[in-house]
Amino acid sequence: MAGDVELVHDVRAELGEGPVWDDARQRLLFVDILRGEIHEFDPVSRNDRVVRVGQTVGAAACTTDGDWVAAAGHAFVRVHHGTGEVTTLAMVETGRETRLNDGAVDPSGRFWAGTMSLKRQHGQGTLYRLDADGARVTAMLAPVTTSNGIDWSLDATRMYYVDTRTRRVDVFDFDNARGTIAKQRTLVDLNDGEGAGSPDGLIVDAEGFIWVALYGGAGLCRYDPDGRLERRVTLPVTYTTKCAFGGRNLDELYVTSAWRPLTAGERAREPHAGGVFRLMPGVRGKPAHRFGPPAGQ
Ligand code: CA
Repeated sequence: MAGDVELVHDVRAELGEGPVWDDARQRLLFVDILRGEIHEFDPVSRNDRVVRVGQTVGAAACTTDGDWVAAAGHAFVRVHHGTGEVTTLAMVETGRETRLNDGAVDPSGRFWAGTMSLKRQHGQGTLYRLDADGARVTAMLAPVTTSNGIDWSLDATRMYYVDTRTRRVDVFDFDNARGTIAKQRTLVDLNDGEGAGSPDGLIVDAEGFIWVALYGGAGLCRYDPDGRLERRVTLPVTYTTKCAFGGRNLDELYVTSAWRPLTAGERAREPHAGGVFRLMPGVRGKPAHRFGPPAGQ
């Protein structure tokens, strides 16, 4: 079961987000959205390489050929791993007061990411799908307000999704061959409970359970595929944003957090806000999907 929570990187990210384990390099990728940074962190040496993208970075993921794809400002971009060079693949919502936020790669190598209003206006966002060849972006769900966590069931028949404003985790039927979603319904409704915080990033583990970070709720909740709460893990920072499994055995759970939303008093009480934390949850993750056409195509 869950043991101690360890601070592994006291990075004090303004808005630390989007942890993804690069199993080829054994590095933890994460972003600081507001600083426009992609971090490539080695939890063994504690070395942290920082690549500045030049605009906000809502999410990043590994590609099949070792580069990164990212949702940056209004653009889906490719970032060259070696040089950090940024190449725009597609633009969305140009000129609107929105930005791309959380995203993830589906089981067929497509990258999904959605937008949110910069002024927290209701219904200004859209969830998009970038095809695995990077050639086309398609609006998949609108309106949404703060597009956030997204991942797929182990059998690739369901997609889990959070629009934080709703305080729900929703589920869709997912057609993996076509990359389409249907039949949106509620899996978990945090409005029903007394718990603090709103659902933010999410990830599915190797048992098919769903881990949801609670933004403002200082922790994580793990749900079974029917939406029943299996456990809650508390962290020493209020603004937990997303978690990812890492390590050689995918049995370490890394959690990102934010420093920016705290008041001065809260910052004094939470000196490690914005840090990356690690715990051993006693369950394993699955390897992160990579962006790009599957091998052999
Ligand atoms: Ca988020």
